[in-house]
Parts: sequence; structure tokens; C-alpha cells
Amino acid sequence: MNTSIPQTSPGLGYLAHRDEIDQAVREVMAGGVYVLGRAVAGFEDRFAAHAGATFGVGVASGTDALCLALKGCGVRPGDEVVTVSHTAVATVAAIEMAGAVPVLVEIDPDTFTMDPRWMEAAITPRTRAVIPVHIYGQMADMARIRSIAARLSLPIVEDCAQAHGARFRDRRAGTWGVAGGFSFYPTKNLGAFGDGGMVVTSDASLAERVRMLREYGWRERYVSESPGVNSRLDELQAAILSVKLAHLDADNTRRGQIAARYDEGLSEYAVRIPARHREAVHVFHQYVIQCDERDDLRAFLSAEGIGTLIHYPLAVHQQPAYRGRLRTVPEGLPVTESVCRRILSLPMYPQMEDGQVERVLAAVRRWRQRASANGTR
Ligand SMILES: *Cc1c(COP(=O)(O)O)cnc(C)c1O
Repeated sequence: MNTSIPQTSPGLGYLAHRDEIDQAVREVMAGGVYVLGRAVAGFEDRFAAHAGATFGVGVASGTDALCLALKGCGVRPGDEVVTVSHTAVATVAAIEMAGAVPVLVEIDPDTFTMDPRWMEAAITPRTRAVIPVHIYGQMADMARIRSIAARLSLPIVEDCAQAHGARFRDRRAGTWGVAGGFSFYPTKNLGAFGDGGMVVTSDASLAERVRMLREYGWRERYVSESPGVNSRLDELQAAILSVKLAHLDADNTRRGQIAARYDEGLSEYAVRIPARHREAVHVFHQYVIQCDERDDLRAFLSAEGIGTLIHYPLAVHQQPAYRGRLRTVPEGLPVTESVCRRILSLPMYPQMEDGQVERVLAAVRRWRQRASANGTR
């Protein structure tokens, strides 16, 4: 009997490097420093260098990374920040945590990333920043977004929570804008054993402001120069993340191999496979297909023991918390809404075996055959 295939499996990422991780954890435990110590400083340097940025500032979550980066860029209560609705609610929550007003724009129907034309259309005199989201591991069209933002002198904070190691042209996620916000939530391409996040930037004064914001506005301990918060990264997470960072590129390569096999296998079954921007290197945080009979396919795969998820079933402007109160450009976001009804995230994690990928493909084939036999499509 075949065992079931989960949609994602962060626990296998531990088992793959168990000895190294256990060793790193023991060292932190014995070291007696548990928050913002040497492990955090070392990981900040290593992670920033991996992204191609000069500075890394470890914080408590990806949401905080975005919020503190915005505040560090001078975003003030009442300012507008332009982002997309096709994203984790966290992106928009971070904007509101900074006191700003989110304005949500349409995505490109092929790549699911911010449509630069709608971004430009959404800019008003109150716009103070733009957050493109590199959704599913593929970067937005940063060349066009950056040229528009530069013309209007607007800082870009990239939402890199799903894009550790992704590239657009020759530069990695987090280095096209003035800052990038990363999440180390356990299921991300680089995941901690709890929450964590980081702001990367090559702007020394921005790095300094975020460093102060994350700990009560301190430059010097116990002296608050400006109001801040508590959003620190802890030593255990940083030590674990340093171990896992050394395997990130190999993990992303494996995700790419799985995606290539999915592409090849699915092309015959009339489901739409993810489009690639020709100038981007996708790191496949998720492998997302589009299919009109999405819910039927999902139920079929579930009965076959194959886990899937929907990222996300509702766009942010459709969520009860935000419905009717955020400006959308264009009104109603028709592309975003239709994409939400059709998307399905197939199993994707670096430890997924070739045989499991084939089983997913075989199940999609059976579903398609059953559907044709029933004459439903
Ligand atoms: C996960 C995620 C976040 C938030 O990260 P947390 O660490 O969960 O706060 C933000 N944006 C996107 C696109 C995400 O996927």
C-alpha cells in the first residue's frame, strides 16, 4: 500500500540534516545567550551575502520584516502603500501594522505577480512605497516595476517570503528594491522551527533604523532614541537557519527538478502549468496549476492520499477582514478573482521522491480519464 503524499513536509527538512542541526542547537543551549547573540549576527551576515545584500536584520517574522522595512523607509500613518491582493494576508497586515493604507492592484494573468501598469495607475500623491510580492517563488517584473518607482521616487520593499534565492536577471530577491522582507516560517524554502524573518538591504542607514525599531528604538541598550517594538530573532532559530542555509541552493535545485517533471507530465492533461518569466529564476516555493474543475481535482487527489492546498482561496480584498474597505485598482480585480477560483498547489518539497512525483502525475491522469469517460469534459 502506498503511503500518502503530503503537500509539504518541513519535518523531512530536519531529518535530512539532523546531526548538524542537533549539534547547532546543543551549542546554543550550552552557550547561555538566547536572543540576538552571535548565532543571529552570523546568520544575518550569511543570509544577506546569499541574497547579494550588504546588511541583514533578523526579526520575529516575515510580517514584521515587511512592517519594519516600511517604517524604516519613512512610511507614516495615513500614507498609501501599493501591493497586490493575490498574496498572503500577511503582506497587507504588515502595511496596516505600519499604520499605512494598503492599495491593491491587479496581477499579470500568467505569472501571478504585480502588473506594473496597474501599479503605476494606482499611484497617488499619498503613495509612499510599493511592495511587489514574489509569489510562489517567482520574482515580479522588477525591471519595469523599478523603473516606474524610480521615476516617481518611491521606495520598493520586496515581499520575498516565498522567494529565498530567486533571481530576476542577475540579481536575487531582496536586492532590486531598497529592502527585501523574508519569512522563515517552517514551510518556506528556508524554514525555521518556529517563526522568524529578516530584512535585507544595502542601505546602511535603513539597516540601522530597522535594527533600532526591532528592539525598542535602542542603539545603545536601555536607551530608546525613538519608539520601537520587540521583534527579535532568537539564537536557536538563527543557528538552525544557518545550517539549513548551506542547503538552500541544493533544495531549490531539487524543487526545480520536481517542477520540470511536473511540467512535462502535466502538459498532456489540459491543466495549465505555471508560466515562467523568461528573465526570472523560479525557486518553486509552490507549484501551482490552474484548472476550471479545481475543486473536483482536489477532492480526487485527496481520496488518492495526495495532499494539495490553495494559495489562496480568497484574495485579500475578498477576506472578511478587508472586504469593501480597501481600494483596488482596477475596481474588483477580475484577474485576481478568477485566478483564485482556479489555482491548486501540488505537493512540493525538496525531499519529495521521483516516485512520488510520478504518483501525483498518474493520479491526475486517472482523474482526467474518469472525467472524459463521464463525458463531463
Ligand atoms: C509567509 C508570508 C508572509 C509572512 O511571513 P510570516 O513569517 O508568516 O509572518 C508574507 N508574505 C508572503 C507572500 C508569505 O508567503
